[in-house]
Amino acid sequence: MHELSVASAVVEKVLEFVSAHSVKKVLAVRLAIGELSHIEAEQLRFCYVAITEQTPIQDSALEIETVEAVVNCERCRYRGRPKYWDDALSVGPIPTMECPNCGGAVEIAEGNDCAIKSIRFAVEDDGLAIPAA
Ligand SMILES: [Zn+2]
Repeated sequence: MHELSVASAVVEKVLEFVSAHSVKKVLAVRLAIGELSHIEAEQLRFCYVAITEQTPIQDSALEIETVEAVVNCERCRYRGRPKYWDDALSVGPIPTMECPNCGGAVEIAEGNDCAIKSIRFAVEDDGLAIPAA
């Protein structure tokens, strides 16, 4: 299951952060998930809750935001939103790897991965947010 390995990687990073910064309690972890990463937010949330049980980050909130995909076309220098299949059988629009401008093959520039954007935590009783990277 894709989401489980993503959740494990996230939890591992947050736990590293916790031990490196003498964090008392993690309040929330904010993730940016690329539209093309094939990560299902609800599945990820479910895995996160399961993995964080019995750890210092148990009960922290997982906030998920979606990053819109951006593609690059080598041929016509197009950079922007991908072209979508309008498939009636699928739940949402499916991005294609075809340039909306010239029909050439595009490369994914953004929206292909998952990153921790911030970790909100308490050292004392006051919450404090800093960027994770
Ligand atoms: Zn193009």
